[in-house]
Amino acid sequence: MKASAFSYARATSVMNAIELLAAHGDSAKVLSGGQSLMPAMNLRLISPELIVDIGDIAELRGIAVTGGTLRIGALTRHVDLLNSPEIAAHVPLLTQAVAHVAHPAIRNRGTIGGSLAHADPAAELPACMVALDATIVVKGPMNERRVPAQDFFTGIYETVLSADELLVAVEIPVPPNNAAHFFSEFARRHGDYAIVGLAAQAVVAGDILTDLRLVFFAVSDRPVLATAATKLVNVAVVPAVLSEASRALGEELDPGEDQQASAPMRRHLAKVLLARCVAALLGRPDLGAGETL
Ligand SMILES: Cc1cc2nc3c(=O)[nH]c(=O)nc-3n(C[C@H](O)[C@H](O)[C@H](O)COP(=O)(O)OP(=O)(O)OC[C@H]3O[C@@H](n4cnc5c(N)ncnc54)[C@H](O)[C@@H]3O)c2cc1C
Repeated sequence: MKASAFSYARATSVMNAIELLAAHGDSAKVLSGGQSLMPAMNLRLISPELIVDIGDIAELRGIAVTGGTLRIGALTRHVDLLNSPEIAAHVPLLTQAVAHVAHPAIRNRGTIGGSLAHADPAAELPACMVALDATIVVKGPMNERRVPAQDFFTGIYETVLSADELLVAVEIPVPPNNAAHFFSEFARRHGDYAIVGLAAQAVVAGDILTDLRLVFFAVSDRPVLATAATKLVNVAVVPAVLSEASRALGEELDPGEDQQASAPMRRHLAKVLLARCVAALLGRPDLGAGETL
């Protein structure tokens, strides 16, 4: 199948893109890497009348660290994140996660802004942004908004973006020196969307986690910042403590069922990831062995 007929405009600047979007409302769609938009159009899941191509807007590209904040432009491609020394040095969680996003052909075109705006609940980057406590920078006709990643995703393929707004960048606080991270997902094949995944960032002091953000994905309609993490913070994590956190996680998650996995299987896999995550963050392989599930 091919897409319905549509008009095409190549935006020359951020303001030009926003003007085009504002003039056409819901009938216009932004085109970044096209790796999700074009398949959806070809399958006629969506039929926008106008495509606003933002690919030429240089100010939307790039990665920069200033004053404790790492800023990534919306048009920065997955492959750029994967190869960036700044990302590897400051937020290695992202380097690790992007390697799980699709395959090289898709990573060569897909962008961080497209991935976040698309808001697939099984996608890696939205979960990472919540784990990293990122801010999503959004521009509309009247003003610029800065939205905590935690509040940005509102449902399956849904965000707080309105039809006349452009996601322009993400800003990530550079983690402290004693930060540690964990990323892992279960997928049928490497590069497939996750069945269940976990992106986590922690602050570790000796053998204690003094801060922990556990973000599960593919278990809900949006990334889930698990409150079960509070059970693991500022305590000696003995097996009983991990068991209690695991039980709390099981109660907290309400995963759906699809052709890939049942809800109980997703809940079980999330607990497996939790145990592996805590074991890795604390350098305690005994905790990840699975007895505490
Ligand atoms: C076979 C296949 C496998 C894939 N596997 C994975 C995977 O495992 N994990 C994963 O995370 N992704 C996966 N993807 C999706 C891929 O990562 C996409 O690149 C990404 O989701 C969208 O980025 P894009 O730049 O291509 O966005 P586009 O396709 O151009 O746009 C996606 C949506 O976001 C909107 N949009 C884009 N940019 C902006 C912006 N700056 N402001 C506002 N709205 C905007 C568009 O209007 C559209 O609705 C896969 C895709 C394919 C085809």
